Amino acid sequence: MEQTLVILKPAAIHRHIVGEVISRFEKKGLYITGMKMMQLGEAKLRGHYAHLVDRPFFPDILDSMMATPVIVMCVEGKDAVEVVRLMVGATNSRKALPGTIRGDYSMSGQENIVHASDSVENAKIELARFFESDEILDYQPSDIRFYYAPDEM
Ligand code: ADP
Repeated sequence: MEQTLVILKPAAIHRHIVGEVISRFEKKGLYITGMKMMQLGEAKLRGHYAHLVDRPFFPDILDSMMATPVIVMCVEGKDAVEVVRLMVGATNSRKALPGTIRGDYSMSGQENIVHASDSVENAKIELARFFESDEILDYQPSDIRFYYAPDEM
């Protein structure tokens, strides 16, 4: 199964919606194979957001992402990268469709509740950035046959 990285950002922690957001992924049929709380530092964030370090708002991203610990998750399922990105919605939450996580829980472009990897290649890189290899566990839910047809597995 495909794996992707989800980060519940400090906005999710501050607003006490961590359980609701995790529940959305569970109810969809995705499953969690790694999860931990961690305090992010500047070095890790500079790597994670390397494509944004030269933007004028990057210091605000650093402040925002270090405001509290975050929860990092490895979320797994068929086509998990694409499915999770669709569930998360557009970067600017004001433009994110209702029914998406950002569309339902946020009004902000920056404080947009979750991070999700945007490609299979980046998911591998990002999971390795936030997890040790033994922190991602090899299992499938016992009722997996009710999630997929045999030819989808
Ligand atoms: P995404 O998180 O949807 O993959 P990006 O990789 O472009 O989007 O941006 C990373 C994060 O940086 C966003 O989720 C958001 O928190 C923040 N960000 C992006 N663009 C802006 C902006 N114009 N102003 C403030 N914060 C931004």
